[in-house]
Amino acid sequence: MTNLKVRKDNVVSIEYTVQLEDGEVIDASEGKGPLQYIHGHQMIIEGLEEALSSMEVGETKEVVVLPEKAYGEYIEEAQEWLAKELFPAEVRLEPGEIIAAKDSEGGTVMLHIKEVEDQRVLVDYNHPLAGETLQFDVKVVDIRPATPQELEHGHVHGAHTEHHH
Ligand code: ZN
Repeated sequence: MTNLKVRKDNVVSIEYTVQLEDGEVIDASEGKGPLQYIHGHQMIIEGLEEALSSMEVGETKEVVVLPEKAYGEYIEEAQEWLAKELFPAEVRLEPGEIIAAKDSEGGTVMLHIKEVEDQRVLVDYNHPLAGETLQFDVKVVDIRPATPQELEHGHVHGAHTEHHH
């Protein structure tokens, strides 16, 4: 047994359910196992990480996270029409699809397809959960110190996790 608390550089395992304000459950650990992350490294949304701080194994909490500490406010201007020819042929251009694209710095951005016309496509750069207040039910199920390697790599090395570099 351990009396570790959730704090920076600990690997924390949580079980969780997250729902929108209208009660729609959008994600849960049930069926896929606890989520593991390294605390204090912005690996999970800010509002949840703050709420977990100092919790102990076995503790549960209900956490309401406002958009600014979740996926950001919805920005009306973060939409634009792009020429259809800019999209590779294999991309499925249908409203509701989310596709990964390269930005000018070589990073990956997620584009949410809003509307499709003959020559052009309306894309939305907002995160699909932008503007949403999230309600978490969270339980801490394990805490252990991260290894130096994990801290160096910036991810958890687990027995059940494929390790790609
Ligand atoms: Zn690694």
